[in-house]
Amino acid sequence: MSLRGTTFLESVLQTLKRAIELGGYPQEVYEILSRPQRIITVNIPVKMDNGKIQVFTGYRVQHNNALGPYKGGIRFHPEVTLEEDIALATVMTFKNALNGLPYGGGKGAVAVDPKKLSKRELEELSRGYARALAPFIGPETDIPAPDVGTDPQIMAWMVDEYSKIAGRNVPGVFTAKPVVLWGNPVREYSTGFGVAVWAREAAKKLWGGIEGKTVAIQGFGNVGYWGAYWLEKMGAKVVAVTDSKGGIYNPNGLKLADVKAVKDKTGTVMNYDSPGTRKITNDEVLELPVDILVPAALENVIHKGNANNIKAKLIVEGANGPTTADAEKVLHSKGVWILPDLAANAGGVVMSYLEWVENLQWYFWDEEETRNKLERILLDTFNRVMIRWSKLGMDKVTIRELHMWRPWIGYTMP
Ligand code: NAD
Repeated sequence: MSLRGTTFLESVLQTLKRAIELGGYPQEVYEILSRPQRIITVNIPVKMDNGKIQVFTGYRVQHNNALGPYKGGIRFHPEVTLEEDIALATVMTFKNALNGLPYGGGKGAVAVDPKKLSKRELEELSRGYARALAPFIGPETDIPAPDVGTDPQIMAWMVDEYSKIAGRNVPGVFTAKPVVLWGNPVREYSTGFGVAVWAREAAKKLWGGIEGKTVAIQGFGNVGYWGAYWLEKMGAKVVAVTDSKGGIYNPNGLKLADVKAVKDKTGTVMNYDSPGTRKITNDEVLELPVDILVPAALENVIHKGNANNIKAKLIVEGANGPTTADAEKVLHSKGVWILPDLAANAGGVVMSYLEWVENLQWYFWDEEETRNKLERILLDTFNRVMIRWSKLGMDKVTIRELHMWRPWIGYTMP
């Protein structure tokens, strides 16, 4: 138990238990899905620029492959733990199943601060990780992708290393690759796009539309920035954003392009200044008087200690696991809609699926066609979720609880 109440893994397992009760499934389902099928630990020696060898520990958790190859990102972060990786892999199983993808769930991690490595050191580490995992991954076995701290360049190194070992070009083993290396231009913004699509559709149900609705976003990385970009394009008003250093708030709305320029130039949104804009902390951003809150940084930020202070009516989980199970109970009882990670941030993995399909068939769609395919899958999921949620009682169950049982029986229409 952490200071914030339940840990991420405890929250995931609590929800799984409740989902199994709701579905009337036997206890055996919990026994199977509450632990991963396989955990791989690797220790990767890297010759640092100072000539010394440093050994980095990493994991790949292969949670469940009942529906297809394991699929999920790789996180490079100094504070990763095996427990966190197991929780993330478990969420991937449910996310892939919910979205009708032919995948199980997996997740990888390396305990490292990638910002502290030179480019050469980072390449050696990435290649070392791919080499160590090569016997356990592949386009039909396990298909990793980026997560916090990893990017298309790292995927390119990993694909190259894997392909060298395989003796042929195998782009389908990793997704979110650079566009010139069999990636797809939509992947860069697909998670943020999905966050915005889910927010827009929920806003239609709650308020008749998203136009003019105020949004606060925690995190201004891949998910936070692109989420903000698409939400603004769809007519919402982004009033607050933060990064690891803190953030900014302007009740009249932020000029996102300017905020992004400041972040790119100085490394943080905190240096953005304009009349009516004030600095806020990463705790404050969660409690602002806004319509929509998008946690898009790390897990467990909404917990029982702050759940009662949250004013947004709609929470769209850009990050994985930002709301603890305890906090979800509190918010749900107050009528707050929580669009959970396994739904709201699935744009990335759905797009990864489309990229993988392109790679397997060696045939490619243009950006617009790809985005339309992505949006159609996201809308299908949204509509299925809403039908089922209304049927079982929006006040009785949460979306997360509703959909955790699906992997056991496979993909079925409501
Ligand atoms: P990223 O590294 O691009 O960005 C993370 C952002 O969070 C940065 O702005 C960083 O400054 C900020 N941050 C870091 N520590 C923080 C803290 N303590 N408080 C507040 N902000 C902090 O990562 P990302 O890819 O945008 O991922 C963010 C979340 O979204 C993660 O939970 C990840 O698992 C999830 N996610 C990402 C994708 C994807 O395609 N990138 C897909 C699904 C889910």
